[in-house]
Amino acid sequence: MAKDIILLGPPGAGKGTQAHLLEANHAMVQLSTGDMLRAAVKSGSDLGKKVQAVMDAGELVSDDLVSALIDDRLNQIGPDAGAIFDGYPRTEPQAHSLDELLEARGRKLDHVIELEVDEDALVDRITGRFTCAVCGEGYHDRYKLPKVENTCDECGSHEFKRRPDDNEETVRKRMAEYRAKTAPILPIYEKRGIVSRIDGMGGIEEVRAAIEKVLAD
Ligand code: ADP
Ligand code: ADP
Ligand code: ZN
Repeated sequence: MAKDIILLGPPGAGKGTQAHLLEANHAMVQLSTGDMLRAAVKSGSDLGKKVQAVMDAGELVSDDLVSALIDDRLNQIGPDAGAIFDGYPRTEPQAHSLDELLEARGRKLDHVIELEVDEDALVDRITGRFTCAVCGEGYHDRYKLPKVENTCDECGSHEFKRRPDDNEETVRKRMAEYRAKTAPILPIYEKRGIVSRIDGMGGIEEVRAAIEKVLAD
């Protein structure tokens, strides 16, 4: 069975970027609660409207909601595919829910990979972030521009978008939430001996190589 891993790290650390690279090179599937919530917002439902207000404020949506999203998504991936949890769990109750959801399916976490990045670099990464509006591929104004100007490397689209919550003020709030509620879940996994810390300050390729090394263990 492929490995199930958590990519843990503050907003802008490079979790989504690395999750996409892992998907391209392994039988692994990214489960991003941020992406699932943005899809709910886009649907325009009442729930989506409530979620949008919370996301715009840089606060966390309810534990029950995100765990229900993960529960549903786990039903769609087979036993041979590994899960890459990106942006989940973010609180202690979510960490416990994840254990239960995995156990119920005979799965277990193999690695928790923490990406460490300085706060100033995070703001720089997030305020320069944009994505392809069609396929979701991630880019950056300085660190990862499309190879052909204004054309997505992956799907050739010319449409790109920026997230409304990727502004400095909201980013600072998201970082504070990370420090207060998410960083404290690390000891749960440290006790199990499955945490690997990776220097996320290097380039995308360097970080990718470091993650591959952890997976090869
Ligand atoms: P980033 O990749 O920048 O860390 P995400 O896309 O993971 O951001 O999350 C964007 C927003 O979605 C968060 O600020 C929060 O409001 C909400 N969110 C995403 N995942 C969770 C989660 N596991 N628990 C609670 N809120 C979440
Ligand atoms: P997260 O999912 O953790 O919020 P992303 O993967 O979306 O982070 O990365 C945030 C921004 O930083 C994106 O614009 C991405 O292209 C860029 N980025 C990701 N990894 C690196 C890196 N190692 N060095 C420089 N920029 C990076
Ligand atoms: Zn694209």
